[in-house]
Amino acid sequence: MSSIEGKVIAITGASSGIGEATAKLLAARGAKVVVGARRTDRLKSLVDGIVAEGGAAKARAVDVANRQDVRSFIDFARAEFGRVDVIVNNAGVMPLSPMAELKVDEWDRMIDVNIRGVLNGVAAVLPEMKARGSGQIVNVASIGAHVVVPTGAVYCATKYAVWAISEGLRQENPDLRVTIISPGVVATELGDDISDANAKEFLTGLRKAAFTPDAIARAIAYAVEQPDDVDVNEIIVRPTTSQF
Ligand code: NDP
Repeated sequence: MSSIEGKVIAITGASSGIGEATAKLLAARGAKVVVGARRTDRLKSLVDGIVAEGGAAKARAVDVANRQDVRSFIDFARAEFGRVDVIVNNAGVMPLSPMAELKVDEWDRMIDVNIRGVLNGVAAVLPEMKARGSGQIVNVASIGAHVVVPTGAVYCATKYAVWAISEGLRQENPDLRVTIISPGVVATELGDDISDANAKEFLTGLRKAAFTPDAIARAIAYAVEQPDDVDVNEIIVRPTTSQF
């Protein structure tokens, strides 16, 4: 029997892309999933679809940049299913641009969602997991946590930060499992909000070698299904034809 079965798994950024695919796969494998994002209409259809297939799922609006909101999201998961075994800190934004364009509000948004969002998720689950002496924190970083590309300085910086936070968390907490998921280019809505024309064109070029989000969902499922004494520290998954 898969060790995904029966686990309560909270997933942020589940209204599209990787988060949505992960929620569907984990629920199909027997997890009780609690999905969060800002677009609640999308979350509702996701939950309806999972429940129609016989799975267990609940949704709640969450803005990961808001610490109290994330705490309430995790409290909601506990109220619905009794505990949180795994959190997948997946929500992210990627408004790429050259630094000289000084899109400082977009820099702030990436820092707030990609870094603070992950920290807020960690803070919301750590006390319960430490008290129990078990739990898994899965942080979605990126290939951008390993390489930097023009227009990606701030985005990659946020993903380097996710990598560092996850590694430090792992070293300090031998009772917990901490997993970094670093995807290559995935065909999702990420970057739809890019406001710089050159960056948009750059991403369109990258997307020529992209795979679908279920590839990342399978990587997350692999990390979650391992026995308690196995912590998959990081998985880097690229499309086979990708250079980056
Ligand atoms: P999507 O744009 O499809 O999904 C992003 C998700 O994040 C959405 O569900 C969105 O929901 C949510 N989100 C954004 N801002 C917030 C917020 N403030 N609070 C809560 N949720 C928020 O992109 P992906 O599925 O591709 O991205 C998922 C993760 O994967 C991100 O961390 C991204 O950086 C990472 N990644 C993606 C790659 C790719 O090529 N696609 C490559 C490497 C990493 P809503 O707008 O409804 O709030």
